[in-house]
Amino acid sequence: MQRPDARGYFGSGFGGKFVPEVLVEAISELERGMDAAFADPAFWSEYHAILRDFVGRPSPIMEASRFTGSDGATLVFKREDLNHTGAHKINNTVGQGLLAKRMGKTRIIAETGAGQHGVATATIGAKLGIPVDVYMGALDVERQSLNVYVMRLLGATVHAVQGGTRTLKDATNEAFREWAARAPDTFYIIGSVVGAHPYPYMVREFQKVIGIEARAQMLERYGRLPTDVVACVGGGSNAMGIFAGFADDPSVRLWGVEASGHGLHAVDTAASLNAGSIGVLHGSRSYLLQTPEGQVRNTHSISAGLDYPGVGPEHAHLKASGRATYVSATDDEALAAFHACAETEGIVPALESAHALSYARTLARERGPDGLVLVNLSGRGDKDTRQVGELEAASGRSATLAGAR
Ligand SMILES: *Cc1c(COP(=O)(O)O)cnc(C)c1O
Repeated sequence: MQRPDARGYFGSGFGGKFVPEVLVEAISELERGMDAAFADPAFWSEYHAILRDFVGRPSPIMEASRFTGSDGATLVFKREDLNHTGAHKINNTVGQGLLAKRMGKTRIIAETGAGQHGVATATIGAKLGIPVDVYMGALDVERQSLNVYVMRLLGATVHAVQGGTRTLKDATNEAFREWAARAPDTFYIIGSVVGAHPYPYMVREFQKVIGIEARAQMLERYGRLPTDVVACVGGGSNAMGIFAGFADDPSVRLWGVEASGHGLHAVDTAASLNAGSIGVLHGSRSYLLQTPEGQVRNTHSISAGLDYPGVGPEHAHLKASGRATYVSATDDEALAAFHACAETEGIVPALESAHALSYARTLARERGPDGLVLVNLSGRGDKDTRQVGELEAASGRSATLAGAR
C-alpha cells in the first residue's frame, strides 16, 4: 500500500490538502513531525509498548462457526472489540498522542460525533498527561450524555458547539477553527482516515497494526491467507487498517461495507461511495453525499459511527482502481446481525461492526466450504444496547429478532 504523492494524492486524484491559508503552516509542520517520527525506531517501540500494555494488543482472531451456520465458509472475527475502550479508535489516538508529545505540543483538540473518538482521545491525553479539549455538536452532547461524562471523568473539557445542525460536521468546523487560532501549541487528533494530507495516510499507518497482526495470525492458524477481508466503512479507518495488511496479496478480495440506512436510494442513507459523488469535504477530495448544488446532505444510519457524509480518499482510490469493492448494509440488516452475533457467539457487537458482520455472513454462505472470510469486529456494542432496546420497544419488536435471519 502506497504513500500518497507529495501533494497528498492517492493514485487517481483523491486526497490533497484543501485547507485555508492559516492552516498551511500547521499542516506542513505536522507532516515534518510525522516524517521524523515514522523514521525513528524509538517512536515505534514506544507506540507498540503502549499498544501492548495499555490497549491489550495483539487482539485475537476467533472462528465464528455458530454465527455463520453450517456449510458456509469459515468465518473469522478480528477482535478489535477487546481493545481498551472497546474499539479500534484507540490505536490511532495512541499514535497521534505520542506524536503530539514528541512535537512538544501542550494541548490536544479533537472533534467527536457519538463521542467514541472523544473518549479515545481523552484516554490517551490522561495517559500522557496532555490536556484535551473536545468539540462536540450541542445536539450530540445531549444525545450522548454518558460519553460526555466519561470524557470529563478522564479530565477532558467538552465544548458544546451551537452552530449549524449542532452535530459532527459543525464540531469538525469548530475544531479546525480552534486549530487555526492556536496551531503553535495545539495538536489536532483526527479520528479517521479523512481530512487534509497527511491525516488519511498517518491514520492508516497507525491502524495498519490490525491488518499486520491479522495476516500473521491467519497464516499461523490456517496455513493460508483469507479469501476475503470485510470491514465496515464510516470514515474508513478500521477498514484501511485491516486492508493494509493484505493489500499486496492479490488473491485476497477486500470488501468495504457502508451504512445504507433505510436503503441506497432512500434520502436516509450514509453510503458515500455507493450513493454519493466526487467533491471536497474537510480538506480532501473524495466521495461525499451532496446535493446537485454541492451542499452536504444530511445523512442517516442507525449507527452513529457510520453516520458521516464523506469517506477517506484512499477508499475512493481503491474503488477507482478496483482493488476493493464497496457494498452496503441497511439499518435492518445490521440489527439482525447485531442480535444474531449476540445469540450465537456471545458477543454484543458495535452497531457499526454489525454492518460488516451482516455482509460477511452472506459472503461466507456464498463462498462455500473452501472460503476463509476474515471480518473486522471493530468494536463492542455496550454503547448501543440502550438505543437498540428503546428502538425495538418503540416499534413493538422483541429482543430475539435473530430468528428472522
Ligand atoms: C467510529 C467507529 C467506526 C467507524 O469509523 P471508521 O473510521 O470507518 O473505522 C466503526 N466501528 C466502530 C466500533 C467505531 O467506533
